[in-house]
Amino acid sequence: MNNRVHQGHFARKRFGQNFLNDDFVIENIVAAIAPKKTQALVEIGPGLAALTLPVARRVDQMTVVEIDRDLAARLAVHPELKDKIRIIQQDAMTVDFAQIAQERQQPLRIFGNLPYNISTPLMFHLFEFTTSVADMHFMLQKEVVNRLVAGPNSKTYGRLSVMAQYYCQIIPVLEVPPTAFTPAPKVDSAVVRLTPHQTIPHPVKDIKVLGQITTQAFNQRRKTIRNSLGQLFTLAQFEQIGIDANLRAENLSVEQYCALANIYQPQQTNTPSQA
Ligand code: SAM
Repeated sequence: MNNRVHQGHFARKRFGQNFLNDDFVIENIVAAIAPKKTQALVEIGPGLAALTLPVARRVDQMTVVEIDRDLAARLAVHPELKDKIRIIQQDAMTVDFAQIAQERQQPLRIFGNLPYNISTPLMFHLFEFTTSVADMHFMLQKEVVNRLVAGPNSKTYGRLSVMAQYYCQIIPVLEVPPTAFTPAPKVDSAVVRLTPHQTIPHPVKDIKVLGQITTQAFNQRRKTIRNSLGQLFTLAQFEQIGIDANLRAENLSVEQYCALANIYQPQQTNTPSQA
């Protein structure tokens, strides 16, 4: 049921508000995060503080980013939280997380029960700050978690898998049923841990190129890459890095996409039949 009153607050659909109501699930998430006293915890979308309170109890101070003015105002007067949390009342998509890390003088531990409507673009925004991040724990649609962890040769492997695995090691932590939320979402959820690689395993010269190649390949995932990527690469280039041009987007590993990104030459205007 949407818009149901919860602690005097009406859930706002436009902000993807599904509040956690299950103490067992909350405890498990906090245990998975395992916050330590002096660490720099940052929560995205604290809402009615279901996760904020148990995490804040374990640390000296923490930062929360909340777009909903009413919820931010509630947190600002919360008796137990008000002196412990710094509230950034802002769209998380516009937050400079590197600046928060600089202020806290340590890499951030970011977490949140993310609004499902913006979870993927928000993760892409966060990938821009991976050098300022120690780890991230997010509640997401289970289907998104499956895509994040998928390897090649599977239907769920796609652009999100490649880009996320480029930056992070990714481990599913916990599955959560719709009944753990008010209002209950229509889909199953899961918590995932993303830990940015200390050293990127397959660095690319230009991340935008990797983004462009994966978009183009997976938008036409049924085509062979000789066709879907034929305007970006010659057959000789596929051969040069040992990639069979008759494979499809889902058959290429992250390493192979990175190799393609690194031999890409912007001035090329090839046709699929060119060798
Ligand atoms: N953490 C709470 C919980 O687990 O019960 C609330 C989770 S609810 C799924 C998502 C929260 O993110 C809401 O508080 C919502 O207002 C907030 N939110 C939605 N869009 C946001 C955005 N762009 N930036 C920051 N917070 C956002």
